[in-house]
This record gives sequence, C-alpha cells and structure tokens, in this order.
Amino acid sequence: VGAMLAIGVDVGGTKIAAGVVDSDGNILESGSVATPRGDGEATAQAIFAAVDGLRAKYEVSAIGVGAAGHVTWPDGCIRYAPNIAYRDFALGRMLRERTGLPCAVDNDAAVAALAEHRLGAGRGVNDFVLVTVGTGIGGGLVLGGRVYRGARGFAAEVGHMVVAGDGPECACGRRGCWEQLASGTSLDRLAREAVAAGRGAAILDAAGGDPTRVAGLAVFEAASAGDPVAVSLFAEVGGWLGLGLGNLANILEPALLIVGGGLVKTGDLLLEPARQALPPFAKANAEFGYFKPIPIVPAELGQEAGLVGAALLGLAEGMA
Ligand SMILES: [Zn+2]
Repeated sequence: VGAMLAIGVDVGGTKIAAGVVDSDGNILESGSVATPRGDGEATAQAIFAAVDGLRAKYEVSAIGVGAAGHVTWPDGCIRYAPNIAYRDFALGRMLRERTGLPCAVDNDAAVAALAEHRLGAGRGVNDFVLVTVGTGIGGGLVLGGRVYRGARGFAAEVGHMVVAGDGPECACGRRGCWEQLASGTSLDRLAREAVAAGRGAAILDAAGGDPTRVAGLAVFEAASAGDPVAVSLFAEVGGWLGLGLGNLANILEPALLIVGGGLVKTGDLLLEPARQALPPFAKANAEFGYFKPIPIVPAELGQEAGLVGAALLGLAEGMA
C-alpha cells in the first residue's frame, strides 16, 4: 500500500497553485497559473485543468482547496472573495461532481492554520490563533485541536475586528478595522505620510529617492539600517498588531499566537512591539505571575502552507 496522496489547491487573488502532497505533507509535484480575470467559470476551468493534469500522473484519494474569501463549510461554496470577480461559486460541489473524489474547500487562512498545526509552529498545540499579515489580515483558529469555523464557515475574520472606532475607513464599510492599522497596507501608508511630512529621508533613500516607491520594503530596509523613524513606524504597526492579538488572547486564551503572511518576514521589528502591547496576563508580568505568558511566534511554513494545508484537509475530510 503506497502513501495516501491528495491534490492541494491554493486559490489566491493573483495565482492558483496546485500540487500533489502525501499524508506527511511532502510535495511531490506542484505548479501555478495566474488567476483568471473574470467570472467563476474561468477560475473553475483553470482549477479543473490543474487537477486533471495532476490526476493523469498520480493516483490521489482526495482534493482540498484553500481559497481567499468567505467560504461556507462544509459544502465549500466561495460566497465572496476580495480581488476576485466571482460570487457564490460552488467550487466544492463542482469538484465533487467532476472527479467523484472527496473534496473539501475552506478559507485560505483556516487551511494555513491546519498546516501549522500538523507541520509547523502549532505542532502539538491544541489551542492557537494564526494571523496572516499581508495586504490585509486573515485569521485561522485551532481550538481544542480542531479548526474552528463558526456556524457557517465565516469565523475568524479577525482583520475586521474594530480596534479604533475613528480609524481609517475599511472596504467592509466600517472604520478602524484591525487590518487598516496593523497590516502591510498600514505600513505603506505611514511611510508615505512620513515622507510627505519631511520626516522620512532614510525611507525615501531606501526607495531609491523615488516617492512612488515608498512602501513597506523601504521602511524595512531603513529600519534594518537603524533609522529611528523607520523603527518607529514598525513600533506603531507592531503595537496595533499586539493590541488586536491581545483582544484575541483575552477572548480565547490560546497557548500560542502565530503570525504568518508577508509582513512577518520583518521579524522582531514587527513582533517585539506586538509582544510589548499584549495585556498583562498574556505577557510575563510579576503582578500576574500565575499566568503563563502567551508567546507570539512567526509561522514556520512559507508560501506552500496553503497548498500543503489544503491537501491535508482533503485527506482528513476524505477519511472522516
Ligand atoms: Zn473591515
């Protein structure tokens, strides 16, 4: 009996990655195509083509998909996805009908949390929160050893937790959502403001002197070289990150807070201010000595977490 294999598919706003993964999380083969502009039909055709190509070469037992956006559970209908045109896209049903295989479709951050639980920073941890910090903030919850999805699958929209009622407007219609203050988008905005106010000389230098290139990467380079303004921008964004993580810690009391996504590559520049902003019970504190501090750690799996987690989800659901 060979190892159980599954196809994992990661559907993002810019690309669709698909691969064959074994039950230990090893990728046997993978590839990606650009996410088609336009409707769900074009996206479905791209996913089907990737799945058909892999099934022609491998005997797989299940298919799993992680997709950006609001995904119903367990039927796997993508109700809404930011930056993708389709709405009410019944991908789970379409894949099951087409392949006859068990197919599970879930939100991308939930799938990444599953991957961290099985193979990454959340190994052996039954209660943790994963937040993915990039352009926005996504969330995955593992509670009691299982991914928590809410009543219909829409839980863990942590990026739209309001942390400042008078803060910047969010695409969701409210003001001061966490992802408006603690994401890469926020760091970009703060950098532009600092440069416009004449305080960001080192940041502007790091952007090659071109104001249109002032963004998070230039702040990272300037901060890494010790520029105090750039360091202060990380302190501001990291402080907001810690404030929101503290809210989640207050509600859920996880054993671990895992931060993934593109911005975590900046390491302690971002995470150390976040640690300082945790509520007293969650950080080392003499007054509350009976609490264990809740560590904030970077995710261990990189870009492939979505694809691998999706395949592991497919295998888990296929055997359920
Ligand atoms: Zn929002």
